Amino acid sequence: MICHLCKSNVHKVHKVVKKVKIYECLDCLLDFVDQVVSFKSRSDKDDTNGLYNFAAYKIKEKKLRKTFAKLTDIIVKYKKSGRVLDVGAGYGLFSSILHKKGNFLIETIEPNTDLYYLQNIPHTNNKKTLEDYLKWTNQRDRAILSKHDRSKRYDIIILMDLIEHLRNPMQSLKKLRELLTYDGILVIQTPNYMSLMARICRDWAWWMIEDHKFFFTVKSLQKILNKTRFKTEYFLTYEDWYDFKKNLDGNFAGIKNNYLRKLTKGIFFIFFAPFYYMFRQVIWGLGYGGLMFVIAKKK
Ligand SMILES: [Zn+2]
Repeated sequence: MICHLCKSNVHKVHKVVKKVKIYECLDCLLDFVDQVVSFKSRSDKDDTNGLYNFAAYKIKEKKLRKTFAKLTDIIVKYKKSGRVLDVGAGYGLFSSILHKKGNFLIETIEPNTDLYYLQNIPHTNNKKTLEDYLKWTNQRDRAILSKHDRSKRYDIIILMDLIEHLRNPMQSLKKLRELLTYDGILVIQTPNYMSLMARICRDWAWWMIEDHKFFFTVKSLQKILNKTRFKTEYFLTYEDWYDFKKNLDGNFAGIKNNYLRKLTKGIFFIFFAPFYYMFRQVIWGLGYGGLMFVIAKKK
């Protein structure tokens, strides 16, 4: 097996999740599952069944709104208007928040879910996977794009929690680059497996082998951007404390006695929470936040 990113074959088994091996490339710190094995074990159609549901999303909505408000504030510092392509838009919450902050024309790629939050916002959805969309635009727009027709390109391309799902992220990024205007921005968010959270949580939720094919670190994310000729304009690692706390729950699952488990957990959080809040900015600044959020431009 060779690394998708650097073609090195120096790797080790980093982790085994539900009997699926996750390999780590020792050259670029990219983790990947053996795609042949993992694709055999499930059909692509069933990818998201059961993993995501709207009722669960609704519960998190308030927190997500807060986070997305901050992230979209950063985006509008770079672009306040133009054509947006939100890839894997989910229920459309992120785009709906961005839409309020500027003069944007929203287009989405979302094969699975209904764009609930975009109901009252004019938008076009491409009900297909990114891979299919790229094949399709290639045929449709090849002639137009080669003439550098700006009107067919996007000013902002958003990949929120998406790149880790792609079969061939390098190829997809290269193709998306062609769809971006010359000064357009690419926005990526993806989990960071070198984060404090990933290291100390025994069941880090983002080791989701049912759906995630690649796992990035600061180093490998920078590398893939570099290799696909993007330069980083803005880089942030962060996480939500609620997510962190929930992920830590797994660490206490071994204590079977209910009372004892709650007590141990309580004592742990009394010490951990103040430490975390005191040093959180430092941890994030050093690149150890659970999520990486990047804004990149064409080189
Ligand atoms: Zn590599």
